[in-house]
Amino acid sequence: MSTISTDLPDIRALSLEELTSALVLLGEKPFRARQVYEWLWKKGARSFEQMTNLSVSLRQQLAAQFSLLVITEDKVQRSSDGTIKSRFRLHDGHLIESVLIPVVADDRFTACVSSQVGCSLTCTFCATGRMKRLRNLTAAEIYDQVFLVNEQCLEAFGKPLTNIVYMGMGEPLLAFREVVDSIDRITSHTGLDMAPRRLTVSTAGIAKMIRKLADEDTKVNLAVSLHAADDAKRNEIMPINESNNLEALVDSLDYFYAKTKKRIGYEYIAFQDFNDSLEDAEKLYQICRRVPSMVNIIEYNPIDNAPFRKATEHRIDDFATYLRDRGIMVTVRRSRGKDIDAACGQLANKD
Ligand code: SF4
Repeated sequence: MSTISTDLPDIRALSLEELTSALVLLGEKPFRARQVYEWLWKKGARSFEQMTNLSVSLRQQLAAQFSLLVITEDKVQRSSDGTIKSRFRLHDGHLIESVLIPVVADDRFTACVSSQVGCSLTCTFCATGRMKRLRNLTAAEIYDQVFLVNEQCLEAFGKPLTNIVYMGMGEPLLAFREVVDSIDRITSHTGLDMAPRRLTVSTAGIAKMIRKLADEDTKVNLAVSLHAADDAKRNEIMPINESNNLEALVDSLDYFYAKTKKRIGYEYIAFQDFNDSLEDAEKLYQICRRVPSMVNIIEYNPIDNAPFRKATEHRIDDFATYLRDRGIMVTVRRSRGKDIDAACGQLANKD
């Protein structure tokens, strides 16, 4: 695997203040730091050479003192439904995936980004869960995915991204600092300047970290991959539930709502004869009724050797109606990008 040297400090790990001090030490005026910072974030420079309003000697000095650890496109796959899956290579050779999901009719263009290489959780229905977690992505690597997918979006659809979901490879709340820092960059006017309400962090349900996210006051949305509304079933498909049972989880969600006043999103993959009965719907309703919530019922995409089948449309419709009749907002999401393994739970760096 090809890698680039990381002996030098990563320039994108520096705050603007730290960068200013570094440039002043090089004999530069403070405003130069703002120019460099703009290249690093807003303009998404891929190398120091690209920073053309800096002198050649300053560019050389920067290259001698810092590394710029950008991600690079490794492979792009286009689905017949417009979805684009990209595989990116990190500076140390690891591969991660991001997905662009266009809904052209609604002018809605969503990037689904990864937060870790692999995942330490082992949800049984998920292809990423079969890969070991190798490391967290840095905030800059998460930012790069958004930046590059936004460029793809502009090129393919003539429109910028409208939404970002942290729902790719990895558990975002276990890459907490990196994820929060990336949110900061994406929403900052010195970065991509996106409104925080356009961002959604999706978690398998780590109660302690949900509280921590609430305390950070990021103003982003929270989605919980619930998939089962009782502990016995959830333990079966999401081992994280054994240490974070539903009682602890919903307590943390109550806290999140109390702090942020943001509606909680529940992701619910419908598995045939496992979690698709009206009894299951009633249990889900009992969770949803605590604080304003919405439910996304997701069609299951079978992965190799998984013990589940997808629920029938008829069962999904009955399930959704049960919740809607009780005042819960429900969407049913037919899966996108299935032909290129870009759908939920399918990201696993397959060729
Ligand atoms: S569903 Fe999410 S948390 Fe679970 S194994 Fe897959 S990537 Fe990890």
